Amino acid sequence: MADRYAVIGNPVAHSKSPRIHAEFARATGQALSYEAIEAPLGGFAGAVAAFRASGGKGLNVTLPFKEEAYALCTGVSERARLARAVNTLMLKEGVFGDNTDGIGLVRDLAGNLQVDPGGKRVLLMGAGGAAQGVVAALLAAGAIELVIANRDMRRAQALAGRFPGLKASGYGALARGFDIVVNATSAGLQGAAPPLPAGVLGPGVLAYEMVYGRDTPFLAAARAAGARACDGLGMLVEQAAESFFLWRGVRPATAPVLERLRHG
Ligand code: NAP
Repeated sequence: MADRYAVIGNPVAHSKSPRIHAEFARATGQALSYEAIEAPLGGFAGAVAAFRASGGKGLNVTLPFKEEAYALCTGVSERARLARAVNTLMLKEGVFGDNTDGIGLVRDLAGNLQVDPGGKRVLLMGAGGAAQGVVAALLAAGAIELVIANRDMRRAQALAGRFPGLKASGYGALARGFDIVVNATSAGLQGAAPPLPAGVLGPGVLAYEMVYGRDTPFLAAARAAGARACDGLGMLVEQAAESFFLWRGVRPATAPVLERLRHG
C-alpha cells in the first residue's frame, strides 16, 4: 500500500495541498497518497493519533492547529522552535515537527520572484501564526531591517521581543523606506487591508500578500500605488516542496506546479 500523508485543518476543504502533493508524487515517481482531514476544534490530537494508527506517515498542519501541533511534538526542528509553530509532522517512533513556511516564503521571494531578502528592509504585517513562522527565515536570509506591525501592538511587541534587533510598530507610525512589504494578516480573507499609511507602498516596493487565490484590497492598493504586487501561491507551493523533501528525501521541481496552479 502507498504511504499515506494528509493536510489537517479546520476548515480544510479549500486546501490546494492534496493537488500539489499529488503532482509532486507523480513528477518524482513516489508512491504515496495525500488526503485532506478536517479535525474538529478541540479534537486535533485525537485526529493525529487516529491517522497515525491507520498507518499515516506525515501531516501538513494548517489553521488553526499549528501551535497545538507544536505542543504535541516529542521533538522539533530549530525552525519550528523559533516559530513556536509546526506545519509539518513526521510520524515515526515519536512525533517530529518542523516549520517550512519561512523557507517557503524566502524561496518564493528569492527564487520565483527574484527579490532576495538579503540586504533589504522588510515590513512584516501581522503577528499571528503566519508571521511567527517567517521571521527567523527572513532574518537568516539577511534582511537588514525587519519591522513587525500589527493592530494589537502587544502581539507585535511580543513577537519582536523574541528576536534580537527586531522592531515593533503600530500601523500609524509607519513611513516609506521598505523594499518588501509582506502582508501576513488574514485581513484579505475578510475583504479588508491593514491600515497602511499612504506612501509605504510605491514604485520599487514588492508587496507580498500571503493570501492566495483571490484579489485582495492589499494587492489592489499596491498596484494603485505603483508597487509590484504578488500573492502567496508561490509560498504555498515552496513550503509544500520542503515538506515533501522532509518526508521523502526527494526535492520536487516547483515551477511547473506553480505554473499549472496559476493557469490551469
Ligand atoms: P492568525 O494567527 O489568525 O493571525 C491573523 C493576523 O491577522 C493577526 O495578526 C491579526 O491582527 C491580523 N488581522 C486580522 N484581520 C485584520 C484586519 N482586518 N486588519 C489588520 N490586521 C488583521 O492567522 P495566520 O495563521 O497568521 O494566517 C494569516 C494569513 O496568512 C491567512 O490568511 C493565511 O491564509 C495566510 N497564510 C498563507 C500561507 C501561504 O503559504 N501562502 C501560509 C500561512 C498562512 P490582530 O493580532 O491585531 O488581531
